Order: sequence, then structure tokens, then C-alpha cells
Amino acid sequence: MSLDMFSLKGKTALVTGANTGLGQGICVAYAQAGADVIGVARRSCQETADKIEAFSGKFTELIADLSDVSVIPHIVEEANKVNGRVDILVNNAGIIKRCDAADVTMEDWDSVININEKMVFLLSQAFAKGWLADEKGGKIINIASMLSYQGGIRVPAYTASKSAVMGLTKALANEWACHGINVNAIAPGYMATNNTENLRKDGQRSEEILSRIPAGRWGTPEDIAGTAVFLASEAAAYIHGFTVAVDGGWLAR
Ligand code: NAD
Repeated sequence: MSLDMFSLKGKTALVTGANTGLGQGICVAYAQAGADVIGVARRSCQETADKIEAFSGKFTELIADLSDVSVIPHIVEEANKVNGRVDILVNNAGIIKRCDAADVTMEDWDSVININEKMVFLLSQAFAKGWLADEKGGKIINIASMLSYQGGIRVPAYTASKSAVMGLTKALANEWACHGINVNAIAPGYMATNNTENLRKDGQRSEEILSRIPAGRWGTPEDIAGTAVFLASEAAAYIHGFTVAVDGGWLAR
């Protein structure tokens, strides 16, 4: 077996939520694995660009607000201009709103569902249409969560959206696997990013979570890099519809 099957050389990857956190980690890992990377974000991705350009990798920034579905044709058009085609789509951008279920507003519910669930489907659909037409296949990696498996506390919209992401990953794989499109997901455990900042600041919750993680520490963006590269590579050609937990053993408890 050649390790070349794990290489992303010659591939173009689009990662949403590329300016920080797990998305930034995936962008850097993909560039290190040889891909040209397009990062979609609301804000400047300069930090991500600097990290990638430091080892002469190629990074292109695409500013777009993913709460607005009208940006989709623009994203596809601009992304395809970079190298003619996107080969790998990572639906990473996501938001979380913590609130007692009884007090969740419709506005907050919709904002979480729109970015974490609806946009994941619509972007997957938009890129898959091109891949179905040119018959060259593609890879979709969705970022799920422990709350694709569990209920969580005070995050009902987030749990609903991430449970949907795991279901959608299977549904799309069932339709597209025979067209050379791999749809899979990664379910990160508790990772030290902006997403969990409030949780980590809450002494009691932070201690409860940490004491339940068999690895004994919060995860980092680097911890999901290997799985993200693997699922985007030819080494994962026969993996379809699966959600890989990268969770320090959380689900094993
Ligand atoms: P983060 O808050 O650091 O990053 C979220 C990213 O999404 C940012 O790049 C942000 O700019 C982007 N984003 C949010 N709203 C957007 C919008 N309207 N338009 C464009 N981009 C937008 O958090 P993170 O931990 O890096 O989260 C990345 C993904 O991982 C999310 O889907 C999150 O739900 C998921 N996740 C995180 C954890 C964790 O413990 N950190 C665990 C499980 C899943």
C-alpha cells in the first residue's frame, strides 16, 4: 500500500468557517496534505492564510455570510474560478446558542437551524450538482457533534441541527455513493475553541465535562486534522455515510 492514497495533492478543498477554530485547523491540515484551500468565512481569514502561506501552501479567502442562502451561487462560482473545480467540501461553519428550552426564541432557533442544518444541505446540493454533471466525484465532510448522539443541556436547536447533520450525511451518501461522491461526517468531542468558550468559563460544567473525557483533556483543532484529511483522501474511497467521533473517548463512557 502506498501512503500516496492519503495525499490531497492536486485537490481543491473548500472549508466553511475557515477563520478560526476547527475550520482553521482543517484548512491548515489540508494544505499540509497538498490541497489548495478555499476558506469561506464572514470575517477575514488572514490568520489562516498566514499559517498556510508560512509553508508555501495555497489559500484563497471567500467572504460570505452563511446565514443568507442567496450567497450560494456566488460561493460556487467564485470557488470554481480558483482551479476550475472544487473536489472536497467541508461543511464546518456552525453556531450554538445556550438557553433554557422554555426560553428559546424563534429567531435563535431559526438562526441555528439555518446555518448548522439548512446551509449544510444546500451547499452540499450545490457542489454535488456539479459533481454529478461532470461525473468526477467529490468528497463532502460534515462537522457533526457529540449532540448528534446525545441530547445536551440548554442547546435544543444545536442538538436538533447536529442530529440532522448525522442523518443528512447518511441520506446524501445513499443517493450519491454510486456517483463517486463520499459523504461522511466528523463528530468532534469537546474541543477548546470559541464554540465552547462559555462552557469552559463555567467552572462547574467545565469540571463535569473534563472528568468525563477518558483522554483527560479538551480536544484541539489539530486533533481532528488526521481524520479530516483521511476522509477527504482516496484512502476513504469506500467509506460512505459514516460519522467518525473524534472525542477523546467521550462516547465510550
Ligand atoms: P468557532 O465558533 O470557533 O467557529 C465557528 C465558525 O463558523 C467560525 O469560522 C465562524 O466564522 C463560522 N460561522 C458562524 N456563522 C457564520 C456565518 N453566518 N457565515 C459564515 N461563517 C460563519 O467554533 P468551532 O468549535 O471551530 O466550530 C466549528 C464546527 O465544529 C461547528 O459546526 C461546531 O458546531 C462544531 N463542533 C464544535 C465542537 C467544539 O467543542 N468546539 C464540538 C462539536 C462540534
